[in-house]
Amino acid sequence: MVHDDKDLGEQFVRLALAIDGHMPGYVDAYFGPEEWKIQAKQAGKLPLSDLTDQTNRLATDVSQADRISPQRKDYLTRQIIAMQMSLRLLRGGKVSLADEVEAMYDVRPAWKDEANFEEAHKLLDEVLPPGGSLKERTLEWERSIEIPVEKVKELLPTIVRKLRTITNQKFNLPEEESFNVEFVSNQPWSAYNWYLGNFRSRIDINTDLPFRVNFLPALMAHEGYPGHHTDLAIKERLLVQSLKYYEFTVNLINAPSAVMAEGIATTALRTIMTDEELEDWFREELLPASDLSHIDLKRILAIGKAGRKLNGIAGNAAFMMHDQQKSEEEVSQYLQEYGLSTEKEARHMISFLSNPLYRSYIFTYHVGYDLFEELFRHGDRDMYFQRLIEEPVTPSQVRDWIGSKNPLH
Ligand SMILES: [Zn+2]
Repeated sequence: MVHDDKDLGEQFVRLALAIDGHMPGYVDAYFGPEEWKIQAKQAGKLPLSDLTDQTNRLATDVSQADRISPQRKDYLTRQIIAMQMSLRLLRGGKVSLADEVEAMYDVRPAWKDEANFEEAHKLLDEVLPPGGSLKERTLEWERSIEIPVEKVKELLPTIVRKLRTITNQKFNLPEEESFNVEFVSNQPWSAYNWYLGNFRSRIDINTDLPFRVNFLPALMAHEGYPGHHTDLAIKERLLVQSLKYYEFTVNLINAPSAVMAEGIATTALRTIMTDEELEDWFREELLPASDLSHIDLKRILAIGKAGRKLNGIAGNAAFMMHDQQKSEEEVSQYLQEYGLSTEKEARHMISFLSNPLYRSYIFTYHVGYDLFEELFRHGDRDMYFQRLIEEPVTPSQVRDWIGSKNPLH
C-alpha cells in the first residue's frame, strides 16, 4: 500500500490516540485535528491485537515510503518501535528495564557506578559549609537557600521575561507564543509543561517540595525558554504548519522524542547563558530580591556543579525497583545515602518510578543531557541546539552527528 506523507503522520497519531485509551497519559499532548480525537473516543478501546497489527503495518509502510526525507523516516521508524514496545507491555509482555528503555527511547541505559556519586560527595564535602554529616550539611544548606512560594510567584515574571528575551534573540520564537504558570500540588513531578497547541502552554509548578533560589532559572529555562515550550512551539510552526508532519501534533511520554525533549530542556539554561552571565544575574538581581545576598554565590554554583554528578542515581533506583525486586525501603535508603535526599524526597521519587509511564522516563533526563552535552562539544552549541528544536531528530541521529564530527552533516 502506498501512503502519502500526510497519511503516515495521520496513522501514527490515530494509533497513539487509540493506545492512550488503554493507558491514559500515554499521549502527553495532542493539538492536531479535533475530529481524530473525537473519532478515537467514539471507537472506544480497540483490541490490543488489532492495534499491534496496525502498528506493524505502519512500520512496513514507513520502511517502504520512498518520498519522505531520510530524517523524517528515521524519526517515524523509531517512534513506531517505541509504540510496539508499549503494546507489548500492555499485552503483558515481560522484558528487562534496559530492553524496555532501549526500544522506547533509542538509548541503552546502564547502571551508574556509585563511584560517580562518591566523587560528588567528595566535592560536596569540600564546598559545603562545615557541620555534621554530609547529609546534614546538605540539608542544612538547602534549607538556607529555600524561598517561600510567595517569593517564587513574585520573582517568576522577571525570570521568564529575561529568559524569553535571550531565547527570542537566539532562536526566533513564533510571535504568538505564550504560556501561563499555575501552582499545583500532589503530583509525582516537580513541574510540568502542558502544550496546548497554537503556540501556547500551561506550566504547572508543584508546591509539595521546597523551592530553592538556585533552582528557579533552571526550572523556567527547562519548562519554558528555551526548553519544552519553545521546542514545541517552534516544531509546531516549522514541522506541523509548514511541512504537515502530523506526527508532531502528538507528544508521547514513551518515545525517543521524549529523550530529545528532555535533552533540550536539561541543556536549555546553559545554552542561552554562560556561567559568568548566570553568576551576574544571581548577584545583581536574584539573590537580593530573595533576601539572600548574604549567601556566598561561588558556593551556590560550586554546590550546583558537584550535585550534577549525582545524575543517574534515579535511574539506578528504577533498576532496583523493576529488575532487582528491591523493596521500597531499600530503594529509599539508597536514594537517601547516595542522593543525600530527605525521606520525603526519596518517597516522592519512588512514587514517580512506580508509575508504569514514568519508570523508564527517568532515564530521558540524564541520558538526554549527557548525549547533547557531548554533541555540543563537537561544534557550535547554538547551531546544534537550533537543529534539535527545528528538525525531526532522534538520539540515533545525534550519535551519528557526533560520530561524523561534521557540523554540516
Ligand atoms: Zn522536562
